[in-house]
Amino acid sequence: MIPPGEATPLDPDLVRDPLRVLYGDLDAAVARFGPSCELSGRCCRFAEYDHTLFVSAPEMSILLADAPPPSRPLDDGETCPWQDLKGRCTAREARPLGCRVYYCDPTYQDHAHALSEVFLGRLKRLVDEMEIPWNYAPLHHHLRQAEAEGRFPSRADRAKDGHRAGHFGLTLLQATNTVELIDVRNGPIVPPGRPPS
Ligand code: SF4
Repeated sequence: MIPPGEATPLDPDLVRDPLRVLYGDLDAAVARFGPSCELSGRCCRFAEYDHTLFVSAPEMSILLADAPPPSRPLDDGETCPWQDLKGRCTAREARPLGCRVYYCDPTYQDHAHALSEVFLGRLKRLVDEMEIPWNYAPLHHHLRQAEAEGRFPSRADRAKDGHRAGHFGLTLLQATNTVELIDVRNGPIVPPGRPPS
């Protein structure tokens, strides 16, 4: 873990524009290979998929500043707090490089490694040029530090919010352009007459 106080949180305004350009170029490069995604959500369930997501300080700064409130409580590294109950990412625009490059499509794995190397190299050069911290570490290490510094909802805050909101929340279903009522602890609430999806 990055010891609290070792790194000053980065101002997201400092890095937003250059990161947007880098993420846009990466998304375009990934799209050229057309990897398939079956929306299994496994890539965001780290423990189950034996996967660790590493994130640098500038990526973390944008994720914390621009992503919506987390969809689930911070755990001990098993899952990403921005994965919703249907396995989808709720932080798509702000998601870091590792999430953008990673697909479990077996035919794409060599391209993923090559793209990762190229774009991580570009990100590191940007960090060096801007003379900002790199702090490349697992996502949950950053999140625990942010939680300790009050920059990420603590478990206690989440419990209070859940209680105040009656544990309900709304989620936008992009595929169908509809809004669904979710019990944040127990899953989607299926309206009468509609079969569970
Ligand atoms: S930020 Fe989104 S894509 Fe990345 S691990 Fe979290 S839920 Fe998955």
